[in-house]
Amino acid sequence: MLKKQIEAWVIQDIGLTEFDNWNAVIRFANRLSIRNSIIACFMVAGMLTVMHAFDLLLNPLWRDMAIGCSIAVVVAFVLTMLCSLYMGYAVIHLARTRLEFRQLSRTDMLSGLLNRRAFIDDLSQVERGHLLILDIDRFKQINDRYGHMAGDDVIISVAATLTEIVGPSHLVARIGGEEFAILFQDCEVAEVVSTAERIRRSIANRLIEAFHQSIAVTVSGGLADITPMRDFSAVYAAADRALYAAKSSGRNRIVLERELPRGTQVEPTSLDLTNAAMSLA
Ligand code: GH3
Ligand code: MG
Ligand code: MG
Repeated sequence: MLKKQIEAWVIQDIGLTEFDNWNAVIRFANRLSIRNSIIACFMVAGMLTVMHAFDLLLNPLWRDMAIGCSIAVVVAFVLTMLCSLYMGYAVIHLARTRLEFRQLSRTDMLSGLLNRRAFIDDLSQVERGHLLILDIDRFKQINDRYGHMAGDDVIISVAATLTEIVGPSHLVARIGGEEFAILFQDCEVAEVVSTAERIRRSIANRLIEAFHQSIAVTVSGGLADITPMRDFSAVYAAADRALYAAKSSGRNRIVLERELPRGTQVEPTSLDLTNAAMSLA
């Protein structure tokens, strides 16, 4: 109990949580140094008064008081300033490392986009909007034909296209090997569909340069509505259903979950069979 109170007091008193830049540290160091100088001055003055009362001083009180208080103020100020700056430096360094670590833990290393876990965390805070899942078509064939490294370059290039078209106002993530997700908030569905189509066309209408090879790539997408009644897995399942419909109806297209016939369930197994048949063809 007491330990908690002391911790709370220390954190509140030195404003640890505000230590994110040097100005805050210098302000804090000044404040603490002045306060400690005053306390040191009063302590020395008190001590000298007591010593004077017991007749222990060799010089007149005013003289010892002037010398003692001056030394106490200077020493307390300098020592407190040095300690506070050192401590402030350590806290700023810690805060920056923590921020970098947090950013790294939320980032997908290959594409530089948000990773799956961070995207799910952010999406679960949202009550309304639209979720678009995009999946590169026949990516396994791209890997098999051009090599895994070229496949990686394709992922990087598709990620860059998404970031470029969607911009910073919506979250873009790589949520699986060749699967991406975009969270649209404060957007009419028509606007979302038009952005999704722009992405699809932009990828389909150019060749991606990867490892000195030009690769034709297409993506399919499934779009679902985010509502307060649906948790993440329900929204994801709905978008995934639309994505499967896009795949099974020929790929290189965007399908809206709300336009699927009610109760449509495209079984993954049936799609896998379609894929296998198409890859053999
Ligand atoms: P579909 O059109 O139905 O989506 O077929 P697909 O071939 O794209 O899908 P499938 O799930 O059969 O294959 C996905 C492949 O993606 C398999 C896996 O080896 C590859 N892959 C997953 N992650 C990575 C990655 O980080 N880099 C590369 N180069 N390939 C990856
Ligand atoms: Mg795929
Ligand atoms: Mg996939």
